[in-house]
Amino acid sequence: MSLKLDQISVRQINGVSALKEGELHAFGVSTVKDLLEYYPFRYEDYRLRSLSEVKDGDKITIQAKIASVPVLQRYGRKSRLTCKMLAENWMFTATWFNRHFLKDQLTAGREIVLTGKWDQRRMQLTVSESEFPDKGAFRSGTLQPVYSIGGKITQSWIRKTMGQALEQYGEMIPEILPQSLLRKYDLMPRKAAIMTIHQPVDSREGQEGRRRMVYEELFLFQLKMQAFRALNRGRMDGVVHTADNATIREFVRSFPFELTDAQKKVELEILHDMRSPYCMNRLLQGDVGSGKTIVAAIALFTTVRSGFQGALMVPTEILAEQHMRSLQKLFEPFGITVGLLTGSVTGKKRKDLLASLQMGLTDIVVGTHALIQDDVYFRELGLVVTDEQHRFGVNQRSVLRRKGYNPDVLTMTATPIPRTLAITAFGDMDVSTLSERPKGRIPITTYWVKHELMDRVLGFISREVNQGRQAYLIAPLIEESDKLDVQNAIDLHVQMQQAFPAYSVGLLHGRMTLAEKDEVMRQFYSNEVQLLISTTVVEVGVDVPNATLMIIMDADRFGLSQLHQLRGRVGRGQHASYCVLVADPKSEVGQERMQVMTETEDGFEVSRRDLELRGPGDFFGTKQSGLPEFRLADMVADFKVVEEARGDAAALVSDSSFWTSPEYEPLRDFLQQEKIFQGDIMD
Ligand code: ADP
Ligand code: MG
Repeated sequence: MSLKLDQISVRQINGVSALKEGELHAFGVSTVKDLLEYYPFRYEDYRLRSLSEVKDGDKITIQAKIASVPVLQRYGRKSRLTCKMLAENWMFTATWFNRHFLKDQLTAGREIVLTGKWDQRRMQLTVSESEFPDKGAFRSGTLQPVYSIGGKITQSWIRKTMGQALEQYGEMIPEILPQSLLRKYDLMPRKAAIMTIHQPVDSREGQEGRRRMVYEELFLFQLKMQAFRALNRGRMDGVVHTADNATIREFVRSFPFELTDAQKKVELEILHDMRSPYCMNRLLQGDVGSGKTIVAAIALFTTVRSGFQGALMVPTEILAEQHMRSLQKLFEPFGITVGLLTGSVTGKKRKDLLASLQMGLTDIVVGTHALIQDDVYFRELGLVVTDEQHRFGVNQRSVLRRKGYNPDVLTMTATPIPRTLAITAFGDMDVSTLSERPKGRIPITTYWVKHELMDRVLGFISREVNQGRQAYLIAPLIEESDKLDVQNAIDLHVQMQQAFPAYSVGLLHGRMTLAEKDEVMRQFYSNEVQLLISTTVVEVGVDVPNATLMIIMDADRFGLSQLHQLRGRVGRGQHASYCVLVADPKSEVGQERMQVMTETEDGFEVSRRDLELRGPGDFFGTKQSGLPEFRLADMVADFKVVEEARGDAAALVSDSSFWTSPEYEPLRDFLQQEKIFQGDIMD
C-alpha cells in the first residue's frame, strides 16, 4: 500500500530544508497532511476593480494606463514618485513612496496594475504594490492566501511551498466523506476543496471549498461525539458509588464556607449520576470563581469513600500543582492521599507514584496529559474529572476513562456558554451549570483607558504594590504569531523593570521551559515577584488571591471571553480588585467589547454579548469563546451546519453498516486515530 499523506514528512516537499522543517514544527506542521490542512485565515484581494465601484479608503487593485511623465521628488533619503494614470475614463494620480527606481519603468502608454489605498476626494492611489502585464502580472486578478506565520517563514515562502506541496501530493488527497453526504449537500470533492482553499480561482469557488471543509470539520467532530455516545449510551454497567450521605456531609461541613445554592443543586445532580449504574458523562460549567473545584472535590471524596480512586486532569503543570495543594489541604484531615503526575515528575518519583496508583495506595491523582500515558494504571478508577474542558479533546477524555472500568466522568469548563450551544457543542454530555458565585465577594472594578493614560496606570501599579498587593500585566496579542507575542512580553518586561526598579518584576510566556514557568509562578505565589508580565498563558485557572490588579495591554485585540478569563485572575481574596483595559480600539465592535467589560462582571452575560457582537465570518471568533476550536468552522456562524452535521453523524453511527461497510472505512480509521474504538461497547 502506498504511503498516506500523514506519513510523509514535509522534508519531502521540494524547497523544505531541515531548518524550514523545524520552523514549520513550531506551527504544529510536520507532515504533508498537516501542511495541506494549514489553511489561510484570509485572502489578499488582487482582483481588478473599477473606479466606478470603489469607496474612499478601500484597498484596491486596478489596471490603468500610464498617462504622463512621472515626477520624482527626493527628500534626503526619502522620495515620492507621482504619475498620472488613466483607468477607463477616469484620470487619477498614483503615488509611490521610496520607490524611486520605478521611475524609468513608468513610460507613457504602458499598462500597469496597481494595488494600494484609494483616496476618493483627491483621486489618488497610494501604491503598495505594482506589476506590469507585459512582464507577466502574477498577483493581479487573484486572491492570494494569507497564512498565520512567524519566525523565518514568510508569506511568499509558505505560498510557494504550499503550491509545491499541492503539485507533488495534491493527487493523493483522499476523499473521506461518504458519497451520500457529498450528494446531500452538493459538496466539492475533498481534493478540489483543499486545492481551492489554498489557491482560489475566484471567491465563489473558494467559498465552495471552504463550505465543504467546514462541513467536514463539523461532521468529523460530531461523528466523534456521536460515536462515543452511541458506544456508551444507556450503559448501565457504570461504577455505582455507595458512599452514604452522612459521610459526604461531614466532608462538606469541613469547608470554611457554606456551599452556594447553585453548588448544592449541582452537587445533587452529580451525586445522583454517581450513585446510579448509569455512566456519568457530565459537563459542569460555571463562571470563573463560581467554585467548581470544591464541587469536584466532593465528587472525588465520594468516589474514594465508595472504595475507588479518582483522577483530576488539568491542562497545565501550574494548574496541576495549584489543585494538588488545595485538594491536599481538603483531604488530609480525612486521611485521603493525593498524588501529582505531570511531565516534570520523573524517575523514581514517577515510578513510585505509578506503583502506588496501581496498588490503590494513592486515592487521588492530579495531573496533566501525563495521566493518559500508556503505563499509568489504576487499581480501581471510579471517577475522572477534567478541568478547563476546551483544552482537552473528547478522545483524551476517552483515553483516561478507559483506564478504569467505566468510571464516571465529570468535565469542568470555566467558559460559560448558552445552554443550547453547550448541548450541541458538547453533544455527548449532560450539562450542569453553576449559575451564581459565592456571596460576599468584593466586585472587581473594571476601567477602560486609552494608551495616553499609561502613566496613571503605572501609578496604579505602585499604589497596589505599595499596599502589599500584586499585579498582572498582560502583553498585547498578535494574532498572526506567537513569537511576536513573546517578544512583546519580553519588551514590556524590560520597560517595567526600568519603571519599577524597587520591585521584582517577573516574566511568563509560552516559550519558556516548564521549569522556568513553574519557578516564576512559585515566585508570584509567594510574593517574591510583585508584578508579573505575561502573555495569555496565565489565562486559565491561576489562583493567587493576593493579586488585585489585572492590566491588559491592547485589550481590544482579545476576545471577550478571554478578557473575562483574564479578569478572573483577580478578585480572589479579601481585597478590592481592579481590571484595567488599555486600548484605543478603532472598530466599533472593539469599542463595544470594552464597554461590555466595564458594564458586567457576569460571565454568562459576557458570553451572551460576545455571541451577539460576533458576526458571521469572524474567523478568529471561536478561538476564545470556550467553544471547540476548528481550523475553518465557527460554532456560532456555522451553527446551522453544526446541527446538520450532528444529525448526519448520529444517523450514521446508529446504522449498523457503519461499523462494517468498506465505504465507511476512512471514517472508522479516523475514529480509531482519535482513540474511539468500537471495543468500547464490549469491554
Ligand atoms: P473556579 O470555578 O474558577 O474554579 P474555584 O473553585 O477556584 O473557582 O473557587 C474560587 C474560590 O472561591 C476558591 O478560593 C474557593 O475556595 C472559594 N469558594 C468556593 N466555593 C465557595 C463558597 N461556597 N463560598 C465561599 N467561597 C467559596
Ligand atoms: Mg478552576
